[in-house]
This record gives sequence, C-alpha cells and structure tokens, in this order.
Amino acid sequence: MTWETVVGLEVHVQLKTATKLFSPAPVRFGQAPNVDVDATDAGLPGALPVLNQEAVSLALKVGLALGSTIHTRNVFTRKHYFYPDLPKGYQITQSEAPILQGGALSFVIDDATGAEKSVSLVRAHLEEDAGKSLHSDDGTRLDWNRSGTPLLEVVTTPSMSSGDEAMRFFRALRAIVVALDVCDGNLQEGSMRADANVSVRRLGAPLGTRVELKNINSPRNLHDAVVDEARRQVALLTAGAAVVQETRLWDADRAQSRTMRSKEDAPDYRYFPDPDLPVVVVDAARIALARSTLPELPGARARRYVASFGLGIKQAAAIVNEPELTAFFEATLAATAAGHEKSVANWLLNEVLGLDDGLARITPVQLARLVTLVEDGALAGRSGKELVRSLQSNDDVDAVVAARGLRLQRGGDVDAAVREAVRSVFAANPTQVAGVKAGKDKLKGFLVGQTMKSLASSSVGAVDPKRVQQIVDEELAT
Ligand code: ADP
Ligand code: MG
Repeated sequence: MTWETVVGLEVHVQLKTATKLFSPAPVRFGQAPNVDVDATDAGLPGALPVLNQEAVSLALKVGLALGSTIHTRNVFTRKHYFYPDLPKGYQITQSEAPILQGGALSFVIDDATGAEKSVSLVRAHLEEDAGKSLHSDDGTRLDWNRSGTPLLEVVTTPSMSSGDEAMRFFRALRAIVVALDVCDGNLQEGSMRADANVSVRRLGAPLGTRVELKNINSPRNLHDAVVDEARRQVALLTAGAAVVQETRLWDADRAQSRTMRSKEDAPDYRYFPDPDLPVVVVDAARIALARSTLPELPGARARRYVASFGLGIKQAAAIVNEPELTAFFEATLAATAAGHEKSVANWLLNEVLGLDDGLARITPVQLARLVTLVEDGALAGRSGKELVRSLQSNDDVDAVVAARGLRLQRGGDVDAAVREAVRSVFAANPTQVAGVKAGKDKLKGFLVGQTMKSLASSSVGAVDPKRVQQIVDEELAT
C-alpha cells in the first residue's frame, strides 16, 4: 500500500512598508541592533499602536490577485505569550476575522506538460513580527529591530501532496508578491518564511496526525523539510508506532528536524481584541483603488510569453517563477529588436543560467548585444557561447568581439578569399579530399576546420562556418 503526503502551509510574507505595522519606526534590514525600535515596539507603558494603512493596501492587492474574499470589518487581536523577543508580552494579529478569506494560487507542477495545480487558501491575516534572540555561549542578546514589522500570513488548505508541490507553491507565491510589489522577496533576509504542516496517510484514507515544521526560509529547504518529515512519519507508522502531534524545527544545515514543543505544551494564547485599536473598515473605493494598481501577474505573463514570443511553456514558467530572471529577461528584451524574444530566452536559460555566476556577471545589455550579433550572422553561435563564459560585466561586447577578431566576415570578396583558402587546403590534403569523395563524410569537418584556421590567421579573419561549409561542398563537387 502506498503512502500519500499531505502538506498545508502558513507563509509569512513581510510587507514592503516604509514603517512598522503599528508604529512610525522604519522597517529596514541590516541596521545595528535596536536602532529601529520606538516606544510601541518596545512595549513601553502608555505607548499606543496606530495601524499603518499602507499594510492594509498591500494586503488588499494580494487578496485581489489571489481571488480572496476581502473582509471589510477588521479587528485586531492580542495573542499572549512570553518570550524575550516579544517585548509587549503579546503579538497583535487577526484571529477570528482575517482580512482575506479563501482564494487560490495556481502553479505549474509538471514542466514537461505545463499541467497546473490550484491550491485553495484558507485565509491571510495581518500581524506583527517579533524581534530576534541572538543566542551565543555567553548568553542571549535581543535585537528588537524586527519587532512590529508587518507580515501577511497566508494559510493554505492541506492540499499539497509532496515536497515538490510545496516548493513550487512557495516559488509561485514569491513571484506573485514580488510582481505585486508588496514584498521584496529577499529570502536571505527572511522576507518570506514558511511553516509546513505535514502528515501522511494511506491513499484515500482520512487525514493523518500532523507535525508542524517551523521557520523555513526557502523553496529548496521547504522541499527537503517536507520530504524528510514524510519519510520520518512513514517509518514510524510502518514500525507500528504513532505520529505525535508536535512542532518541530527544521535545521537546514543538518538536513534534519528536532522537537520544539508537543501539543501538550501548546500555550493558551488568551486571545482578546486589542482595546487600543479601532475596527478598521475597508470600503469599496479602497478596494477599487487597489484593483486599479494591479500589474500583470506571473501566470498571465507566462501565457503572453508563449502566445506572443513563441516560448515553450517550460521556458515561460522558468522565467516568470523567478523575479530576478523575469527582470533580466525583460531588460534584455528592452535592448533587442522585436522578434528576438525566443532567442533571448534560449540564451538566457541555456547559456547564462548554465553558469553559477552568469546572472551576476553578465548584464542584460551585453546579452542583448550578443544575441543581436548572432541573429544578424555577425557572430558564430560558438563564439557567442564562449563570450558568455568569459565576459565581465563592464566589458563592451563589440570591443571584445573586435579585439578577438570574432566578427564574421561576409560578402563577395570574402567568398573569393574563402574559395582560395579551400583550394590550398585541398591541395595540401589530397588524401582527405579523396576520402570525402569516397564517402567518408567525417573528413569534411577536417577540411572545413583547416580552412577556418588558415582564414583566421590571414587578413580575412573569422568567417561564418556555414559559408565555409558551403564553399567546401561546391569545391568538392567540381
Ligand atoms: P490551527 O487552527 O491549529 O492553526 P488549522 O486548521 O488552521 O490549524 O491549520 C493550520 C495549517 O495546517 C493549515 O495550513 C492546514 O492546511 C494545515 N493542516 C491541517 N491539518 C493538516 C493535516 N492533517 N496534514 C497536513 N496539514 C494540515
Ligand atoms: Mg501564525
């Protein structure tokens, strides 16, 4: 009997606001500890929270993009627990009535066919982030800079069935929130963090006991965490043991999880509405305004790439799923003539991405120039590929091509020079010529190669290999 994995995600999306959710302190990354903490974030007595309306507007954009129902009367709730990185002693969140309810996210789950899956959402609510505890051998230090940073927590139904699907969901959500400009999508800085709820069951059986894996910061880690947890649960169940409902921490460096707390020590949060915050009413005009700012979303963009540029579904999905790639592709298109889109996609995905540092070292303008030269027949594909490997971001492509004599020569004079070179190569290699005439086709490559070599070291320079091939054929036929 086979086992099925079931995954439901809670993804914390850090909203791109200038200031915190309930205070005027700036939201910034990488500052010295505790510089971006005002009285409200520090939980000082008498400090009052004031809702940042920008966070509400950003949440609305997400809701409209995902087809959620927007809850118009928003109440904020205190969720109490004690931990030093939560200076107030409670987190302000939305419990009963989240700003967004339902909705769904569709994403490609099979690159070959382009087949999609739609994952339904339960809800998405606004809440503030906690600070950070920095543990070391000589004790724990607190940095409250992150305290009060606005988050939108997106909760899915338990409807993904593998680590791969969970990973693709995370990527697709990242692509959407970056396209919407509501989150910077910076995974290294923790701008998106997922909790994965994982259970396993026999195919078709009711849902099994779930384990929650906390604080996963990238699609790849999410994939690995889910796969590992499903394996752990199947091993327990096949050995006759039970899965214990608990919260575990995923350690990406060791590629294993460890228990954080069991269901029994789950805290009682003593939720109640925050008396310092009024009910926030979202009216129709505000929703209409958010709707009017919606950009083209990744799914629509992928369909346009396929329909207008002739890209394959897999190519289009690869580009729109990674915001960095989308930006690079669009910037390259902006610097090339219409009609070269598919070629740009091929070069970007096959050559630039094939190198570890390709995206960081090559600029869109350079790639655009390279593709244009190749498409115009002024540069051999092979030379172009070599350039992708060696160009530095401050190189001028035309200058490098000129300095290395890579520009392909063409025209009547060149043809005459090529013919002359072919004839001398033939004269110097009679055995090979006889071999080709006797049907040893492989030897033709040798003759072409010799001709190219002699042209390269002559005043003619580089010539399109296709043209050399044609002239070799013509000379063989005489
Ligand atoms: P709680 O109220 O305890 O937080 P929810 O029902 O809201 O629990 O679910 C939290 C998350 O756990 C959701 O993402 C949901 O999809 C997921 N989930 C719930 N039950 C399971 C299960 N049996 N297996 C996997 N995920 C689950
Ligand atoms: Mg939560």
